[in-house]
Formats: sequence, structure tokens, C-alpha cells
Amino acid sequence: MFSAQTKFDSLLGKLNNQPLRHQIIMISLSLVIFAIFCLYNSERLFTHLGKQSIADIENALEQTRSETKHILNQISAEQSCTQLAPQLRQTVFMSDYAKEIGVFKGSPTIYCTSTEGYSQVEIYSTIFDRVAHSPTHETLAFTRTAITKQNSILYIYSDSQLNGVSMVIPPRYLTRLINGIINQEHLIFDIKVYQYHILGQDHQDYIKSMVFNSDVFPLQVEFYLTAKTYISYLLSKIWVLLCIYFSLLSCYLYKRKIVIQKKSLESSILHALEAKQFEVYFQPIVQSSDRSVAGCEALLRWNHPTQGFIPPNIFIPLAERLGFIEQLTDFVIDEACALYEHHPQLMQGKYVSVNIARELMCSTAFTDKIIARCINNPAFSQNIAFEITEDGDFSDSEQKMVERNFRLLSHSGMRLFVDDFGTGYSGLNFVRQFHFDTLKIDQVFVKNLGHEPHLNNVLISMLQLAASLRMRVIVEGVETQEQLAILNQLGVDYIQGYLFSKPLPQAQWLDYLSHCAAKEEQESAELAYSH
Ligand code: C2E
Ligand code: CA
Ligand code: CA
Repeated sequence: MFSAQTKFDSLLGKLNNQPLRHQIIMISLSLVIFAIFCLYNSERLFTHLGKQSIADIENALEQTRSETKHILNQISAEQSCTQLAPQLRQTVFMSDYAKEIGVFKGSPTIYCTSTEGYSQVEIYSTIFDRVAHSPTHETLAFTRTAITKQNSILYIYSDSQLNGVSMVIPPRYLTRLINGIINQEHLIFDIKVYQYHILGQDHQDYIKSMVFNSDVFPLQVEFYLTAKTYISYLLSKIWVLLCIYFSLLSCYLYKRKIVIQKKSLESSILHALEAKQFEVYFQPIVQSSDRSVAGCEALLRWNHPTQGFIPPNIFIPLAERLGFIEQLTDFVIDEACALYEHHPQLMQGKYVSVNIARELMCSTAFTDKIIARCINNPAFSQNIAFEITEDGDFSDSEQKMVERNFRLLSHSGMRLFVDDFGTGYSGLNFVRQFHFDTLKIDQVFVKNLGHEPHLNNVLISMLQLAASLRMRVIVEGVETQEQLAILNQLGVDYIQGYLFSKPLPQAQWLDYLSHCAAKEEQESAELAYSH
């Protein structure tokens, strides 16, 4: 007990020293995940904004073209500049983007404009060539305008006869458009029309640049991503960092709760026996020929004061790990013996089988203690049987111990049952190596009995094996009449399962025995009467 307590204290100590280190790991992990997230998403976001900027400029130009295309008809109709100019002025007034409009007719000479006093302006021949060769007869240029003497964007388009419209678009209109899209203080951008940067922004210290091209116009939007851009993006996504951190924290706390719960189980199991929290339940093992009770299996239950019922599959391995299993097994054997002492009539001719952990199979001290009990109480070996599962391979020294212990137990008249036969633990080798009284076939072979035809054959070969080794057979986990009927047909000797009864606390187990005894008495009375 002392060594188990010390082991537990050291484990708990380790657990308490962990949190700071775990916090640092979680924060670092959150930052790494956040950085990867931001890197990936910022790239996607900026690409999206760049494409959107190009698309919006193209839309604006498209809109401007459709707002002004009625002018083409007037050019074709050979209207004079005096007639045309007021309409051009009106169109400029209505347009969102065009601030001046000029028209040309088959040549690069603008013969009429919306600005009073200017009628003859030459379009650069290179620009005019671009219009002529463009599939949609349109282009952009960035040049100093003849009228305002300001660097401006020219949007020029024509029909197939090269009658067309030239419009001046102030650069700030497009800048405003992009600013509205990117909505980011720290994202520097520039617009390039043909070869000219129209803003010429200072973008010396950028980390990365991204270029987006228009398929229609000689137009590029360039983003310059600086440290500030990234920092501003990270700050705008700080909530993601918090989400990542809190998700990790929740997982960590959940895991930690489980670990602490386990540790607290470890601590409480050491006191559970003294606190009388363990109880032994008994599950009948029934003879299939006449349904009489041949014996029962003793199964431990732990009623934890705060955590409620804890299944043996959890606490038995825990007890084994903490070196506590021998005390628990002694408790089960004592409770079984107490049944015979206090209820000799009900228990007469019936055995109680007790599960023995692997560690105890190898323990000479445990075996010697049992043999001493057999000597002191000759009925002990008749009343108590041991259920043993082969739990993995034994080392050479373990094998020697097990052989010695089983031999001594057999000589003392103790019955040994092979538990969970067929599950991969209790295999053929194990069964052949030692002398066992009974083979307990695991419930997995019963679950689908009647639905999987090959199970019948598997059971038949197990029964043949048992017969050849002169072993009795108990089939576990029988829950339905259908399963029972098949097992009867196959000639199984003993049945254990919910069909007859679930494991019962001692008082109910005694009631069950009394009820069976009364029924047997009544049946034999009826038999005698009928004779
Ligand atoms: P086991 O030795 O194979 O015990 C049989 C298990 O099958 C029991 O579960 C029992 O309640 C359950 N069972 C019986 N009939 C049926 C049925 O018709 N249908 C179904 N679905 N289940 C049925 P339990 O009591 O939860 O025990 C689980 C395991 O814990 C036992 O398996 C045994 O390996 C271990 N255990 C229980 N008590 C002790 C003990 O005192 N010492 C040791 N070393 N192990 C024990
Ligand atoms: Ca068992
Ligand atoms: Ca079993």
C-alpha cells in the first residue's frame, strides 16, 4: 500500500509541475497555427482584392463606354462640332468618370471636345494604333492632356470604322475606386497604365509585391505588402488567435480533467476497500440440461462516493497497476467464503468462480496463501474456482512460476477455468499447456449466433477441443432464447448470461437461489405426485 501511495504522490507532483510548461507550449502552438493561417489567408485575401480592383476598373470603363456610346451615332451622322459639343458637355456632366470627352472620325485627330475653345487635338499615333489593333477597339493611356496639361488617364474607344470617343479620367477616380475595395490603411498600391505608374507611390520597403493584370486593357494594379500591411492584417485577425488558443485550452483542460480524474481514482481506490465501497456481485452459471444453478461468477463492483458506479474494466487494470489487485482478490474470495459460512444450505453443491489477474498467477506468495486456505478449510477447493485469462505471452521465468502455481493449485483440488477463450488472449497453446477444468467461451461467439452460420462451426470445434482435453464448457453472454436453443443443440454444458440473470448483489443472489430451490422443490413434488 505504501509503495502504491508513494507512486501516486510522485505522479500527482509531476502533474502539478506541468501547467506552466503546457501553457507555453499552447501559446507557441497557437502562434504557429495563427501565423500559418494568416500567411495563407492574407495571400488569398490580397489576391482577391487585386482581382476585384481590376474587375471594378474594367466595369467602370465598361459603364463609361455604354454611357457615351450614343455619341458614335452622332459622329456617323456627320454632326458639326457646334451641334455635338453641347451633347458632349451634357454627357460629361452625367458621367461618373469621364471629365472631358473628345471625338475623332477615322483618324487620330480629335475634331470636337466637351471643353469650350478646344476642337483640334492630336491623339498620339501609338495610342491610336493600339485602339485600331485592339479586338474591342479600346485602350487606355496615361498622358498629359492637351487641355488641362495634367497627367491623366485617357480612355479611348472606337467603332470598326475608327470613329471614336476619347475621354479623360482623373487618376484619383480609379484610386478612390481601389481604396473603396481594399479598405486597408496599410496596403500600398499603384496603378500602371501601359508602362506608366500613375501614382508613383513610395514603395521602397515592401516585403512582397503582387501584380494583377487586366485581360482587356494595358492596365495593372500592383500591391506592395510591407511589414505594416502584415501587422495590420494580423491585428485585424487577432480574434482567430484567441479562438485557436481557447480551442487548444479547452482540449487541454478536458484532457487534464480526465488525467486528474484518473489520478483521483488512483488515490481513492487505495482507500475504497477500507471505506467499504467495493461490493461483490454474483452471476449464476446454469446447467443447460435441467436449468439448475451449478455455481456463479463473482464480479467486483466499485460504488465511488462522488463518481458513482465505476466499471471493473476501468478499476481492475488500475488496481493491477497500483499493486492493489491481491487485496481486492482476497476481498472477493473472503466474500465468497462468507456466503458458504452464512448460507450453507443455499450454497450447497454450488461453486463460486473468482477472476484471477495475471500478476497473481505468477505470484508464489498468493498461491501459497490459497494452498494454506485449502489445508485449513477442506471445502475451500470445492467451493472456490479460479478464472484465468491468458493475458499475452509469459517470459521464461513467469512461465516457470505459472507452471509451479497451477500444479500446486491443481494438487490441492482447486478448479481452474480458462476465461475469455477464443478472444486472442486465451488461445490454444495456453489451454494445452496446463490442466484446466473448464473452458469459458467468450461472449463474442454468442452475440451473432443464429445470424452468422460460421459461428456454429467455430463453436463446434471449440467443443471438440474441450471434449478432447476433458474440459467442461461454459458459454458466456447468452441473452436470448434463440442463442440458448442453438447452444443446447450443440451440446453446451453450462450457460452464463443475462438470459438467466445479470450479476446480482449478495442479497438478490440469495433470493435468486431461494427462488430456484423453491421451484426445484415444487417440480420434484409435482413429479412425485404424477407418479
Ligand atoms: P469477465 O470475467 O469476462 O466477466 C464477464 C463479464 O460479462 C461481466 O462484466 C458480466 O457482467 C458480463 N456479462 C455476463 N453476462 C452477460 C450477457 O449476457 N451480456 C453481456 N453483454 N454481458 C454479460 P463485468 O462485471 O463488467 O466485468 C468485466 C470484467 O472485469 C470481467 O470480465 C473481468 O475480466 C473483470 N473483473 C470483474 N471482477 C473482477 C475481479 O474480481 N477480479 C479480476 N481480476 N477481474 C474482474
Ligand atoms: Ca471471468
Ligand atoms: Ca469472460
